[in-house]
Amino acid sequence: MSAPVIGIPTNSLSMEGPSSPGLQRAYVNQDYIRCVSLAGGVPLLLPAVPKPQDIESQFARVDALLLAGGPDLHPLTYGEQPAWGLGETFPEEDAHQLALARLALDARKPILAICRGMQLMNVVMGGTLHQDIARNPEGCLQHVQKGRRHTVAHPVTLAEDSRLARIFRQRTVGVNSFHHQAVKALAPGLQVTAQADDGIVEAVEGLPGTSVLGVQWHPEAMAERHPEMQALFQAWMDEAGAAR
Ligand code: MN
Repeated sequence: MSAPVIGIPTNSLSMEGPSSPGLQRAYVNQDYIRCVSLAGGVPLLLPAVPKPQDIESQFARVDALLLAGGPDLHPLTYGEQPAWGLGETFPEEDAHQLALARLALDARKPILAICRGMQLMNVVMGGTLHQDIARNPEGCLQHVQKGRRHTVAHPVTLAEDSRLARIFRQRTVGVNSFHHQAVKALAPGLQVTAQADDGIVEAVEGLPGTSVLGVQWHPEAMAERHPEMQALFQAWMDEAGAAR
């Protein structure tokens, strides 16, 4: 059987410097491509296009969706106005990724959602986000680590009987942390399956009948040195292969 094709929507990068001021590039980080390939999937990058029929055409070619990390979602996507502390936003990419996520939910295709991707799944399923947890009152950990990308920033506690607990075979996992936003109101249809000690949502899973696995950390950046993070990709890829 051929390998599952994993659609990865691209994000937009605003270039700076004398040779490319104002230039916009579509990109994904190489780490995602490596982890998907190593797990036996075929990564297929999906650039943002506006026409619904073109998005459907992209979607028809993939077996599963990987929603990567990236910039902040525009808060209008969850019915809020921009607050101070919100980062740069890309509404066209938001719309494209939300449309792909909706198609995947309707078709019950597996979705692995990382960082921004997890936040996007919460939004598309009806939840909201904290626009900047650094402005939260008290007791909030530093979730934008200063250390190198593969190093552990903080532990998370996994929910009993969760997919993640089965994948990691333990209840506490050390994760990296590169997010200044977080899930606020949890979407119906999702359950929290990992939390940091300050209560910040670090992973969500879809209720039975959906195939959503979301993590707030960046397993793709840890996978080379932390085999359990590549095992996360492998477990998801096995499901993506079986779901075809
Ligand atoms: Mn964190």
